[in-house]
Amino acid sequence: MEYPKDYRELVSQFNTQARCIEYLAAIRWADGFTCPRCAGKEAWRSERLLWVCRQCESHVSVLAGTLFQDTKLPLSLWFQLIWWFVGQKSGTSALSIQTNFGVGSYRTAWKLLHKLRSCMVLAGRAPLSGKVEVDEGFVGGENNKKIVMVAAEVRGKATGRVRMRHIHSRTSEGDPRMYH
Ligand SMILES: [Zn+2]
Repeated sequence: MEYPKDYRELVSQFNTQARCIEYLAAIRWADGFTCPRCAGKEAWRSERLLWVCRQCESHVSVLAGTLFQDTKLPLSLWFQLIWWFVGQKSGTSALSIQTNFGVGSYRTAWKLLHKLRSCMVLAGRAPLSGKVEVDEGFVGGENNKKIVMVAAEVRGKATGRVRMRHIHSRTSEGDPRMYH
């Protein structure tokens, strides 16, 4: 998988919703699509960037159960935000999100910051429990090849706690198995 090496590359690599979705799908379904409802392994792609399970005909979004579920913002913006956020040593503020990312309102920026922070805060606290899905990885930070793993507890249809942390590679300490 190709990781952007800097912010400029990130922006050009993830410049459309489709590209971001392909990236997330490649990580989430690294061993091939798996239907969250029936565990079916085969799907066809609908025009709306969804996977349609051949077995139960569920329409599956790769974003379901992730930090990006239900977001109205483009994923490209989220990717940039996360990259920027994990690279900040201090001084993140809603105002800086609003001014740096052209987020419409202060309120929206504040909500984004809150969401990012709540993900970070959870890292290192009590282990996630129950069924845990590691939903996506992401590259960010000021250094090369830092990956932000996002894990979510799956509680029926709702998503429980979500956590995010950065690691050096998918096979080191941040191996998804750590969450189980
Ligand atoms: Zn299915």
